[in-house]
Amino acid sequence: METTAFSTSTIPGGELTRGLGRVLLTEAEIHQRIGELAAQISSDYAGLNPLLVGVLKGVIFFMSDLLRAVTIPVTVDFIAISRYDAQRKTKGPVRLIKDLDETVEGRHLLFVEDIIDTGLTLNYLLRILRARGPASLQVCTLFNKPEHRLASIPLKYKGFDLPDRFVVGFGLDYRESYRHLPFVAELRPEVLQLDTA
Ligand code: 5GP
Repeated sequence: METTAFSTSTIPGGELTRGLGRVLLTEAEIHQRIGELAAQISSDYAGLNPLLVGVLKGVIFFMSDLLRAVTIPVTVDFIAISRYDAQRKTKGPVRLIKDLDETVEGRHLLFVEDIIDTGLTLNYLLRILRARGPASLQVCTLFNKPEHRLASIPLKYKGFDLPDRFVVGFGLDYRESYRHLPFVAELRPEVLQLDTA
């Protein structure tokens, strides 16, 4: 079913989609896969009232679709991180800038991610959460880029493997743009090159 003007694999013109390359995943493909993940999670976590944890802001699209498709009671919570080093004005180490409101000890935690690339960010966050004594801790990511994985991640649920390209849409931004596109597309290399020139 076509729900928006963006559901096909062709990109409409205009300001919002300028700079985009190929569409890798359509809205319909993403929604179908989220339904499958939700069914699996509902079955695996029946009776456990899991705590679903996401990192703001990219995951909000995936999280809200996943939550609406899950058929068991769950609790949701968010953390926020910063990778910006204010002194050096560059990308710095990961810092937690908003912690969970919920208690982790004894809970069945499912870490919900939009995308995993090297896995270093997630590895850092999983270490923090593991130290709080959850009953279990698993990871669900919608998008996975396996080519540059530097940390071992216990990936129980995965939506899609993606090639080693910088992609945007469905929560993934480029300088806070493109995040709300309902599909996933490559960002044209010349846009990224302009940025690093
Ligand atoms: P990791 O620590 O796994 O290398 O980094 C994960 C983070 O890098 C993601 O949460 C996301 O913010 C960013 N990231 C990695 N690949 C992409 C991509 O293709 N597009 C966008 N927009 N962000 C990405």
